[in-house]
Amino acid sequence: MINRLALIGLGLIGGSLSLALKERGLVGEVVGYSRQLQTRLRARELGLIDRPVDSAAEAVRGADVVFIATPVQAMASVFAEIGPELDPGALITDGGSVKGNVVAAAKLSLSPAQWGQFVPGHPIAGTERSGPDAAFATLFVDHRVILTPISENAPEMVTRAVDLWQSVGAIVEQMDVQHHDHVLAATSHLPHLAAFGLVSALSRLEERYEVFRYAAGGFRDFSRIASSDPQMWRDICVANRDELLPMLDHYLVELHRLRQLIEASDSAGVEKLFADAKAVRDALY
Ligand code: NAD
Repeated sequence: MINRLALIGLGLIGGSLSLALKERGLVGEVVGYSRQLQTRLRARELGLIDRPVDSAAEAVRGADVVFIATPVQAMASVFAEIGPELDPGALITDGGSVKGNVVAAAKLSLSPAQWGQFVPGHPIAGTERSGPDAAFATLFVDHRVILTPISENAPEMVTRAVDLWQSVGAIVEQMDVQHHDHVLAATSHLPHLAAFGLVSALSRLEERYEVFRYAAGGFRDFSRIASSDPQMWRDICVANRDELLPMLDHYLVELHRLRQLIEASDSAGVEKLFADAKAVRDALY
């Protein structure tokens, strides 16, 4: 049971965690901070938080769990602000999609003791919607949450982070920070780049109105994630640059290979590439 949860960032991820805990009666009070007053008021109206406050520092005062759910590049300033106000027994955790830069930012701003209280996390759950209105209580049920504990973590803090996510129905796994950023660059960050890139390319065609008029189910499925929040994805791509660029190059090589096969009218080669990809996709879902 959490007495006071401090929520920093009141959108899809932060709001959904709060709703899930509230629905199960696992939290006493939720104190929330988000950059814009309008968002804080909306979050209270929707019941995501009980008490909006005017700063991240104020939010963490007296909290036994602190959850940071802002875009990843905003987390450095959040850690700097909350450091002096953190309770020595508080679990500090986050939901950021990239772990390397978040861990580095935390290390820079938190004291050695507080550093041991920070258990980085990433729920592998989401939608293309954002903001407080996008939050819903069942978002994490049966979804994976990856924790990337650091060697300085007190084992008790890791256990509390595991319990937190399991209590809202998530399946918790642990891995190291670099491995997380490598794997997620492939399965999450690259597909978003591909979707944003495709829609952007088509929108620059002179005949774009005619093209989009005839866009059907396939285009809709493929492009759904290009409706995701631009600021959030800007932050993820820049923060995970070192893992994402080699993955993007790998993808471009494959697209180039496909281009060559088509240029050569190599039907067997094209079919083989498609059949191999289909077999992989079919085995996954
Ligand atoms: P969101 O846009 O719905 O919510 C982000 C919130 O942070 C907003 O309320 C915004 O006002 C607030 N914010 C922005 N800058 C701030 C600052 N400097 N200080 C305080 N508040 C600030 O985004 P989200 O989808 O909830 O994502 C939150 C985090 O979770 C991100 O780090 C993202 O990478 C991660 N994440 C997102 C998804 C997804 O699919 N949306 C999935 C897993 C993890």
